[in-house]
Amino acid sequence: MDAHEARLWTTIDGKIECQLCHHYCKIREGRKGLCQVRRNVDGVLYSLSYGKLIAAHVDPIEKKPLFHFLPGSQSYSIAAPGCNFRCAWCQNWDISQLTARNDPERLALTAPEQVVKAAVQSGCKSISYTYTEPTIFYEFARDVSALAREAGLRNVWVSNGYMTGQMLDENLPLMDAINVDIKAFDDAVYRKYAGAHLQPILDNCVTLKKAGVWLEVTTLLIKGVNDDEAQVSGLAEFIADKLGQDTPWHISRYYPQPQFQEIAATPPETILKAVKVGKEAGLQYVYSGNLGRNEDTHCPVCGELLVDRRSLWLTGNRVEKGVCPKCGTKIAGVWE
Ligand code: SF4
Repeated sequence: MDAHEARLWTTIDGKIECQLCHHYCKIREGRKGLCQVRRNVDGVLYSLSYGKLIAAHVDPIEKKPLFHFLPGSQSYSIAAPGCNFRCAWCQNWDISQLTARNDPERLALTAPEQVVKAAVQSGCKSISYTYTEPTIFYEFARDVSALAREAGLRNVWVSNGYMTGQMLDENLPLMDAINVDIKAFDDAVYRKYAGAHLQPILDNCVTLKKAGVWLEVTTLLIKGVNDDEAQVSGLAEFIADKLGQDTPWHISRYYPQPQFQEIAATPPETILKAVKVGKEAGLQYVYSGNLGRNEDTHCPVCGELLVDRRSLWLTGNRVEKGVCPKCGTKIAGVWE
């Protein structure tokens, strides 16, 4: 077995309890957790996906999406197979769910040093742990993160936010930015589609914000799943009240995925209405994603155009030392 001893677990009544995500799987001898990449072998928990990369690309940071974190920079983006959720509409289903093709045992082993070297050589300013759920390949992400910091790179997470407090406590010092995908504002929706609960995700967002990790939120709006008024306004108010009015919120349009054709593409007017609800809740930066429109940033005080983007590409940035050049308002984000 090509595996790496896992962090964050304990033994209870002869079973291993994995303490990496809020599923807190109780794993018997020889069995795996829900994510399928952590196994109990002779009473020790192992990560089966350590260093087993299924994707490694150079992306614009805007693709994460992060619009207020080193805009226009490139981020070396990696993923290992596996996820702790099974969202039917997943856009990365082919790599997030284990198949014979992406079985970690069949993938070559990459060392943390190789990732950092490739990131530096490609001129990236950060490394992103993304595409699948980085919580599930935490041990590798953590080892890469420590080396990345030494090399002057930042660490970016793109996550469903379902990690435990223990994992966050351990990893917060190594995290610079995160985009958390809040999929719905209704626990029943989380239970039905992800087999998970909403509250730990909301609590983690508050923890991340308080710890000073730069946070942006994404919601993929899907007709009949999470687009009702109560959910959209409830989530907008949560972000404004608990995370701050200057927290960017990306509301993305859903398109049917090959494995999930039952629901049609979200009408553009649903997205635009949700953007309006977000702004009415006091949010200063609400972006519509997947609509084929420019997603520009304006000064929340004087309205000056600050950052303009064509699709995911930055085409202009007038923010000077973190402030609006016209009225001097501080613009939330990490600009240099
Ligand atoms: S990471 Fe989550 S899903 Fe995977 S074994 Fe641990 S608790 Fe279970």
